Amino acid sequence: MEKWRKILQKGCASPEEIAEKFHLDAGKLRAVAAQFPFFVNPYYFSLIREKGDGIYRQCIPDERELSGSADLMKDPLGEEAHTPAPCVVRRYEDRCLLLVSNRCAMYCRFCTRKRKFETPMCVDREKVLQGIEYIRKEPAIRDVLVTGGDPLLLEDSLLEEYLEKVHAIPHVDYIRIGSRVPCVLPQRITGKLLKMLKKYHPLYMNVHFNHPDEITEESARALRRLADGGIVLGSQTVLLKGVNDDPHVLQALMRRLLACRVRPYYLFHADLVFGTEHFRVSLKKGLELMDFLRNESSGMAVPHYAVDLPGGGGKVQLVPDHQVARNGKKVTFRNFCGELWDFPDTEE
Ligand SMILES: *Cc1c(COP(=O)(O)O)cnc(C)c1O
Ligand code: SF4
Repeated sequence: MEKWRKILQKGCASPEEIAEKFHLDAGKLRAVAAQFPFFVNPYYFSLIREKGDGIYRQCIPDERELSGSADLMKDPLGEEAHTPAPCVVRRYEDRCLLLVSNRCAMYCRFCTRKRKFETPMCVDREKVLQGIEYIRKEPAIRDVLVTGGDPLLLEDSLLEEYLEKVHAIPHVDYIRIGSRVPCVLPQRITGKLLKMLKKYHPLYMNVHFNHPDEITEESARALRRLADGGIVLGSQTVLLKGVNDDPHVLQALMRRLLACRVRPYYLFHADLVFGTEHFRVSLKKGLELMDFLRNESSGMAVPHYAVDLPGGGGKVQLVPDHQVARNGKKVTFRNFCGELWDFPDTEE
């Protein structure tokens, strides 16, 4: 059996074991896990250094998950309303999501798709194939983002069937895979998988990393293999209180990603998911963090900071504003070390 399967099969510590190890109330843990399933594989679990650290918070249930406030929704992005075909989410003319799996190598406590763990939807091959049929009939779609759950938890052969079908659609220019597996189960990036993926270029992969401690020897090796396979790597990170809402943590993460040949792509403001309030950071703080990243590191290390508007408004990008005044043609900016500089603008 392949190593990654063994790791997944070994499964997860029970709420009782977790409670004992971290001195928690097993009853409360079980109550949370009954609402929002709990699963962390032994590899990711082994990255916890101490109770409450950035890894711990992402995978261990917290009783605050049960105290959701009214403006936090179970389907925060209104995805159910933007589903023109099974397993397809389309909000833009030229690109769409194709949900091919509802399994993950662990369940992140802040996940937008929490509700999908309760009601498995797109595990069903027939439905995914219907989704691909829809894409085939929509010539405006040029970019298909294969996601889930985690697409890399599918069998190689099933994933290949989907990729082959999407790849064969003439109007699809390239495929993107969204996956957290290189971070949470890097052993899954096998030579066999790579050999298969390489047949479906141009292929991009957005990997999901939230904390510098997630970059280990194993995950760095997985990223190197993907990059060597010609897959262009980007990252997405969710901004999470107590995990990465610290300028130096965020900067270390972006730098380490770049050193692993991953270009930071998105920093997502956390979605309004029920039971994730304790993870939420203000937009103001988010912008301050972005300003720090931009001022203190290369533009290469700066992702787009985006909010997915609740209800299906799509993503908007937030950018720290460095223009402090405008006087006729003269525009005044604040530079990276806080000095004011003028720029003579051109009239329209
Ligand atoms: C995020 C998203 C995309 C991809 O958007 P990019 O900004 O191009 O990365 C496509 N469709 C939906 C529904 C999305 O939420
Ligand atoms: S891996 Fe992604 S989809 Fe799965 S639980 Fe984590 S954030 Fe959600």
